[in-house]
Amino acid sequence: MPRNIYSEDHEAFRASVREFVERTLEPRAEEMIREHVIPRDIWQEAGKQGFLGLDIPEELGGAGAGDYRFNAVFAEEVSGFTAAVSSCFGIHADVCPPYIVDLGTEEQKQRWLPGIASGELICSIGMTEPSGGSDLAALKTTAVRDGEDWVINGSKTFITNGHQCDLAIVAVRTDPSKGAKGITLFVLEAGTEGFTKGNKLDKVGQVESDTSELFFDNVRVPDANRLGPEGQGFIAMMQRLPQERIGAAVSNVAHAAKILEETIEYTKERKAFGQAIGSFQHNKFKIAELVTRIEVTQAYVDDCVAAHAEGRLTPVDAAKAKWFSAQVQNDVLDECVQLYGGYGFMNEYRVARAWRDARVTKIWAGSNEIMKELIGRDLGL
Ligand SMILES: Cc1cc2nc3c(=O)[nH]c(=O)nc-3n(C[C@H](O)[C@H](O)[C@H](O)COP(=O)(O)OP(=O)(O)OC[C@H]3O[C@@H](n4cnc5c(N)ncnc54)[C@H](O)[C@@H]3O)c2cc1C
Repeated sequence: MPRNIYSEDHEAFRASVREFVERTLEPRAEEMIREHVIPRDIWQEAGKQGFLGLDIPEELGGAGAGDYRFNAVFAEEVSGFTAAVSSCFGIHADVCPPYIVDLGTEEQKQRWLPGIASGELICSIGMTEPSGGSDLAALKTTAVRDGEDWVINGSKTFITNGHQCDLAIVAVRTDPSKGAKGITLFVLEAGTEGFTKGNKLDKVGQVESDTSELFFDNVRVPDANRLGPEGQGFIAMMQRLPQERIGAAVSNVAHAAKILEETIEYTKERKAFGQAIGSFQHNKFKIAELVTRIEVTQAYVDDCVAAHAEGRLTPVDAAKAKWFSAQVQNDVLDECVQLYGGYGFMNEYRVARAWRDARVTKIWAGSNEIMKELIGRDLGL
C-alpha cells in the first residue's frame, strides 16, 4: 500500500538524507564498527546539512522544521544504513533538543542549542542507573544545594553517546523525601571537575554506537545548569518519552524493512535443489507473511507519526507502536537470518549484524514489559 503521510517536501528531504548516507556514512562503515563511535567530522557534516537541528529554532542555528515527519524521514533513512548510527543521531537530535527548547532559559538555549544543531556539542541523556532503568522514579543519583551551586554524586549507565558527549542531560534526585516529585534535570558539561566517563561498553550488537557509564564525584554545577523547575524532572521525562518511543518505532520498522528487502533479493539469487530458495512454497509463504507484518506495522507507526506531527500522539499509542514494532523487527530479522542459511550467522553479512542490533530495541527506551504495563494501566487493569 502506498504510504500517505509524506509530501513532496518530505521526499525531497529524504533524497538529501539518502545522499548523505551514501556519500558520508557508507564509506566510513568499517571505521565506525572498529572504533565504536561516529567520528566527529561526520557529526559536523550532519550538522552542516541541517539534519541535527530539526527541532531547534532557526534563530538558534536549527531548521525549525516544526514537523515531526522530517525527523521520521531522517530516522528511516539512517536506520536503513545501521540501527546504531540512527540511535546515536536520534538521541542527539530527536530526544535531547526538545528538553532544552521547552525547558531551557534564554541563556541556556543560546549556550547549547547552536552547538547541538551544528554537531559541535554532542549530546546524551542519562536516566538509567546501575541499580535500574525501568523504575525511573527510584533513581539514586543526588544533587544537594550548596549556596548558588549544586553538588552531584552518583552514576548513570548504558548511556548512548556517553563516551563522546560534550553535554549530558541527567536526571537526579534533589529531594529524597518526594519520590518522583523529587527529581530534577541538569545539563552537565564535559570537562567539569568530578564528571568522568567510563569506557565504551562492550555490546552484543549496535557496535557502531558509543554506549558508556557516566560518573559524578562531587560535581559542582551552578544553578544556571538546572534544566526546568526543581522537582519537575520526572514529569518532563514522561512528557517527552513518547517522542523517543515513536522515533524508536520508526527506526524499528525502517531497519527491518530494509534488511527484508535485501533478503528477498538474496532468496531470488540463491539456489538449492536447482531452484531459487525463495521459490520454495514454504519460503514464499514465509516471505509473504514477513512483508505483510512489516506493512501492517508501518501503517500503525505512520499513523502515530502523523498524530505526533499534529501534537495528538498519546503516550499509550506511542507505547503500542514501540513494543510492537520492536517485536516485529526481531521476529522478521530472525527469519531473514534463517533465509540466509549459514551466511546469516556471519558477521560480514549485514543481516547477521542487523539481527544482533535489533535485540536491544525490546529493552531500551522502556522495555516491552514496561510498554505493556502502560497500556494495561490505561485499560484500567
Ligand atoms: C545499548 C543501550 C543504550 C541505552 N541508551 C540509554 C540512554 O541513552 N539513556 C538512558 O538513560 N538509558 C539508556 N539505556 C538503558 C535502557 O533504557 C534500560 O536498559 C532499560 O530501561 C531497562 O532498564 P534496566 O536495564 O535497568 O533493566 P531493569 O529495569 O532492571 O529490568 C530488568 C527486566 O525486568 C523487567 N521489568 C522491570 N519492571 C517490570 C515490571 N513492572 N513488570 C514486568 N517486567 C518488569 C524489564 O522489562 C526487564 O526485562 C540503554 C540501554 C542499552 C542496552
